[in-house]
Amino acid sequence: MSYPYGTPRDHETPVGPVSPPLVRATAHAIDSVEELGELGRGERHGEFYQRLRHSNGVQFEEQAAAREGAEGAVAFASGMAAMSAAILAHCQAGDRILVANQIYGGTELLCREDLPRFGVTVQRYEALNLETLVEALSEPAALVVLETPINPTLRIVDLAKAVAICKQHRVPLILDGTFAPAPIQRALDFGVDLLVHSATKYYGGHSDVLAGFVAGSHEYLGPVAAFRTRTGGVLAPDVAWLLCRSMPTMDLRLAAQQASALRLAEILHAEIPGLESLGAVSHPGLPGHPDHDLAAAQMRGGPCLVTLTVAGGSENASRVFGRLRRIARAPSLGGVESVASLASLTTHAGLSDAERLAAGIPAGILRISVGVEDTEWLAEDLLQALRT
Ligand code: PLP
Repeated sequence: MSYPYGTPRDHETPVGPVSPPLVRATAHAIDSVEELGELGRGERHGEFYQRLRHSNGVQFEEQAAAREGAEGAVAFASGMAAMSAAILAHCQAGDRILVANQIYGGTELLCREDLPRFGVTVQRYEALNLETLVEALSEPAALVVLETPINPTLRIVDLAKAVAICKQHRVPLILDGTFAPAPIQRALDFGVDLLVHSATKYYGGHSDVLAGFVAGSHEYLGPVAAFRTRTGGVLAPDVAWLLCRSMPTMDLRLAAQQASALRLAEILHAEIPGLESLGAVSHPGLPGHPDHDLAAAQMRGGPCLVTLTVAGGSENASRVFGRLRRIARAPSLGGVESVASLASLTTHAGLSDAERLAAGIPAGILRISVGVEDTEWLAEDLLQALRT
């Protein structure tokens, strides 16, 4: 059986180049007329035309699927291309889908600006109160969309519970697991139907690629791959090649970043009593975090992020943000270099203060994506910014 996307492969003793060659060819010459006919009619999948399938893309998909424990993975040009394909391939005009209130800003805008134009109704529920999902499922729904860990608050949703609710109502569950790839959270093992990742973050790991993928079973991936071929949001070969270079170090990077994030959270948390400007430090590894036990049960270590709440709201947070000298002021996360971002200026910029608050994002939130630098060196920067 061949698929238009990558599936996990058994390890083979390497022969030939020890790193994969980059093949940028958009078309492949085919030897036999019969084979050409089969490929053209989509009866068989192989190297033929780059939008349908290409070797570097498939190599990345094979590795991502193996890492996430999926039957396959379908790679896209960005995380949003992956998320929009996962949703649009599985719903149609007249459908109602249920989307968590606490969701990435880009997904939020897709739900607000685009899905209604195609006759898809989006109803919201509270990810941190799954009873609201049960209530919403009292009427038919085509899909449920969820994110955990939640950005930027680092709250954790009970995956086993969310899956059980969706299975009971026979509704597919799409999870945005960007903040916790497989070394941290094996979402598919919990029974999630489609797992979406912005590979721009930890899979890429070096802030130099934009990419995404959807992983899951063949049953759910088939329509996603067909949608990708029709709409064309494929991952470029050179980006796939870079992702394949990043993947062997993902576990090492994440282990270092996770340890540093927790240590940084502990250092900053210990400073709260003497620092008027620091309202709160959020990291699921801190014993006082509301989802501390759930995170310990559901994830292997915490996320590689720390979220601070600067006392006095967004103006004060902007001042602290502006005083950083070592940590870059930039959007995104997941790279080996630490970056700080204000949700109000980046991921959730499309939302009003009231909408952000409704999504559980208080004013004054400053998110740090922790890289692989020395933890003390990062802490010194944050403390000087909070003190001056
Ligand atoms: N999901 C989450 C949680 C994100 O943080 C992002 C980007 O920041 C995306 C999806 C979208 O990914 P991309 O920017 O690769 O399209």
